[in-house]
Parts: sequence; structure tokens; C-alpha cells
Amino acid sequence: MSEIHSGGCQCGAIRFRMEGQPKDVSVCHCRMCQKAFGAYYAPLVNVGTAGVTWTRGEPKRFASSNFVQRGFCETCGTPLTYEAPDGLSLSAGSFDEPARLPPTIQFGIECRLPFVDGIPALPARATLDDLDDAPFLPDIVSRQHPDHDTAEWPPERPA
Ligand SMILES: [Zn+2]
Ligand SMILES: [Zn+2]
Repeated sequence: MSEIHSGGCQCGAIRFRMEGQPKDVSVCHCRMCQKAFGAYYAPLVNVGTAGVTWTRGEPKRFASSNFVQRGFCETCGTPLTYEAPDGLSLSAGSFDEPARLPPTIQFGIECRLPFVDGIPALPARATLDDLDDAPFLPDIVSRQHPDHDTAEWPPERPA
């Protein structure tokens, strides 16, 4: 039986399904990926021969170069794709279960930010350790799409 991975953007307007084994899972340190993800590096699942279906909506695309398009949700801004002549990659963090797709290689290391390797050694706190500084935390109502497919989104909210 083929493995199935689902995912989508933060607001839920766009959902996808990947069927089969990806070619590789990577982090890319290149400057274009840093900018496109607003992050120190981009985690990417190169789908290879696995099948990808957009099960709700479709990304809007920006041609970040003459060869590459980058797809994102135009409603919430989640980065979703890296589309190059040699194939399609999906942003690894947008999968419902990113822990099932651990990275095995790094790309673009000439742009790797010098402090990235030191991050695991930084002081570490859990979200609810910060209640004194952020007393609203227990009252947060998430509008993020849940980590599974849904029949309808957004759900009806009480008026
Ligand atoms: Zn969205
Ligand atoms: Zn890159």
C-alpha cells in the first residue's frame, strides 16, 4: 500500500495530498529560500515520482527567478511550493505530520547563517513557561486549520 501524506496552509484554504515516497527531504539555506520562507532556512520535501493532488484550492505563484516558481496561500501567506524545471517540492512544515518526513540533506550551505548550528544550545522554554509575559496564552482561540483533512473549511462559527 502506498504511503499517503496530507497537508495544507495555515488558514485551510489550500490542502494537498502526496501519495508515494518523496525523492528526498532537505533544508535549503540559500538566500532565496530564506527570503521566501521568512526563515533561516527552508524545509522542503522533493516529491520526485510521488503523486501530488491539490484537494482544496491551489497556490498562488511568484516567479522568483526565470526558472523557479514559488507557491503560497494568498489568504494566509503560508509558503507551499518550490517548483523548478527538475521537479516540485512542498514545504515540509505545511504537512500535517512533518515528523514523518525528517530531513536527510542540506542544500545551499554557502549561505548557511553562522548561528544556525548553535540554536539547539540556546536557552529553551515551553510556550506556557511564558505566562507572566504573555497572560493571554491560556485564552487563545486558534484559527489554524487542524492537522487533518476536513469536509468543510472554515467551520461555521457561532454568531
Ligand atoms: Zn491559507
Ligand atoms: Zn533554496
